[in-house]
Amino acid sequence: MKMKIKTHQKSEKSDLIKAAQPSINLRSGSLTTATPRFGSTNGGDHPNPGGIKAYAAQTATASLGPFAIQRRDVGDNDVQMEILYCGVCHSDLHMVRNEWHQTVYPCVPGHEIVGRVIAVGREVEKFKEGDLAGVGCMVDSCRTCSSCEQGLEQYCEHGPVQTYNSEDTHLGGVTYGGYSKSIVVDEAFVLRVSDKLNLAAVAPLLCAGITTYSPLRHWKVSKGQKVGIVGLGGLGHMAVKFARSFGAHVVLFTTSPEKGADAIRLGAHEVVVSKDQGEMNKHLNSFDFILDAVSAEHDINAYLNLLKVDGTLTLVGLPEKPLGIAAFNLIGRRRQFAGSMIGGIAETQEMLDYCADHGIVSDVELISIDQVNEAYERMVKGQVKYRFVIDMASL
Ligand SMILES: [Zn+2]
Ligand SMILES: [Zn+2]
Repeated sequence: MKMKIKTHQKSEKSDLIKAAQPSINLRSGSLTTATPRFGSTNGGDHPNPGGIKAYAAQTATASLGPFAIQRRDVGDNDVQMEILYCGVCHSDLHMVRNEWHQTVYPCVPGHEIVGRVIAVGREVEKFKEGDLAGVGCMVDSCRTCSSCEQGLEQYCEHGPVQTYNSEDTHLGGVTYGGYSKSIVVDEAFVLRVSDKLNLAAVAPLLCAGITTYSPLRHWKVSKGQKVGIVGLGGLGHMAVKFARSFGAHVVLFTTSPEKGADAIRLGAHEVVVSKDQGEMNKHLNSFDFILDAVSAEHDINAYLNLLKVDGTLTLVGLPEKPLGIAAFNLIGRRRQFAGSMIGGIAETQEMLDYCADHGIVSDVELISIDQVNEAYERMVKGQVKYRFVIDMASL
């Protein structure tokens, strides 16, 4: 997911006056042993003088390496989590390498975070110490604009506060993400995580999962519909699982014939090699909905032509160059071309609960933190099935 750095001013919150919580256990291994205090800032008197272990990129061309960061004290509405697992999203790589020309260094990426609550502020209602919890792509938003009021924080008119590389209104500088030992987030942006599922495999649900779940729900994918998923990567493999689970007839489009067997295993009913024009032609004018998860350059018209009357093609991938759409491919059958980005907090919780009820997780390859640079190289080559997840015990 890509969003602009938030630039608006928000009102001062109560973070400057935070009462110490006598009942809070701040034990977090090597992270911190001090208690919160009044008026503490990111200055020299911070309770984590040695810093919290993290992994950061210092420049666009440097490898990620060890780095110490500060987290804010636990405010009244805050949840502090020890991070257990963090997924590796393609956005992390784009941001680390400044491919979107907005990265502030040092950059600590990671927005597919699963962990255990180690402290809560006194106003926190949803979480208690010891609970499992998750944090996705956002850690705050204005909460008052029309998007926020509708639970669409991802489309906050002032730009949501991203989990990393957004302005940090508490400590200054930019926010730091999940490639770290712990994080402090307002409970309004913390998700409940079930203990029924493999926690490492839950982590990618926080970005790849909700990015595909939300559009499939918004366009009401259901039984009796024919649904196409374009691309079998981190996003595509989750889209196949969800579309199948929602009852649709699922067709996976790929340029790699060797991915066919895996697509069927993941839940696709049919696989179409998109380079084969004959195969593509068999599906003309037949789809209710197509979710396009490809970020590489590709011919969007080839997929628009597969939609039936009133069908919708929705992008969740991020091709770098503008797409050339032939107008007749839309107007000829009243087709719709759309886009979608992650999901709101309430919908993300709905997705996590749905996954717990239906046993849906991401297919992951667990790595240690010192393998993350190698993982980036493999991700560029598409050599991952289908998401790397960092075991934060290795940090
Ligand atoms: Zn992501
Ligand atoms: Zn807003």
